[in-house]
Amino acid sequence: MLSEFDLIARYFTRPSRRPADAVALGIGDDCALVTPRVGMQLAISSDMLVEGRHFFAGAEPRQLGHKCLAVNLSDLAAMGATPLAFTLALSLPAAEPAWLQPFSAGLLALADEHGCELIGGDTTKGPLNICITVFGEVPPGQALRRDAAREGDDIWISGTLGDARLALAGYRHEIPLEQASLDQAATRMHAPTPRVALGTALRGIAHAAIDISDGLAGDLGHILTKSAVGATLAVDLLPAGPVLAQQALDLRRRFTLAGGDDYELCFTAPAACRDAVLAAGHLANIAVTRVGRIESTPGLRLVDADGAALTLQATSFDHFASP
Ligand code: ADP
Ligand code: MG
Repeated sequence: MLSEFDLIARYFTRPSRRPADAVALGIGDDCALVTPRVGMQLAISSDMLVEGRHFFAGAEPRQLGHKCLAVNLSDLAAMGATPLAFTLALSLPAAEPAWLQPFSAGLLALADEHGCELIGGDTTKGPLNICITVFGEVPPGQALRRDAAREGDDIWISGTLGDARLALAGYRHEIPLEQASLDQAATRMHAPTPRVALGTALRGIAHAAIDISDGLAGDLGHILTKSAVGATLAVDLLPAGPVLAQQALDLRRRFTLAGGDDYELCFTAPAACRDAVLAAGHLANIAVTRVGRIESTPGLRLVDADGAALTLQATSFDHFASP
């Protein structure tokens, strides 16, 4: 049986990937030591993933390792921050190498992709629960805050929306879905791609940004509330994921607008910056689509392809309101 310390040494401790850089001391002491670059602000965020709540019991461990870091990196992306390091607090029912090996491989592969070093954490026995805290850096004044949208800004979306929600509907048998389509849509649910390069490319261009984790309507709503503005959103311009794009219009509208687990960025930028936004998308190798406009009148107004008003039930996910 692996001891707590064997487990940490074997699966989570590696030679520093950032020699003589931001991480002065990694795993092994009471605290890690991080040296922020002079003049930079630290961006810090935590996300917890609970078995049976955020992922199915028995979820594939390599994908789970990827996903739990991806959702945290997505928060850094939404601030325009560059990843530096993260901590991992892990509650595990048992120290099973067959689970730990692929979990740590998925986690650390994504960490390496982003130069984000695992610098510490905590390990305890208990129900499966994975809590990550990420640390990033951003030049002062350049973070993409939720309260920074301005009247006249365009609203943009990265990538595509709704395939993760479609996969959930398939698993729940809410809609019939062929196995190949379900498998394709499910990669969006199990292995989201944090839009880190886009977030940093939007510094100095975008005003406000948020990552879409609970559904676009609700998450854009946070920008509107914090910025004390409203918006009109062209629902039929929302870019649907390739599997959702083959579904009926009503489902496309509902799942692009109020899906969840998309991990794309929704951001606002002045109309004068359209070319700069497109260039940022090009640089980050991700499509960006203009889907609406920030207005002074509070509230979210939905319109169809012809600009006619639409009424849709667009509630987003809430852990305490939902069953
Ligand atoms: P303490 O007793 O001070 O809480 P621990 O014995 O829990 O320290 O942890 C020993 C070292 O291993 C610390 O540096 C801690 O940050 C690190 N650590 C513990 N669990 C993990 C984990 N799951 N991933 C990465 N590092 C971890
Ligand atoms: Mg401890």
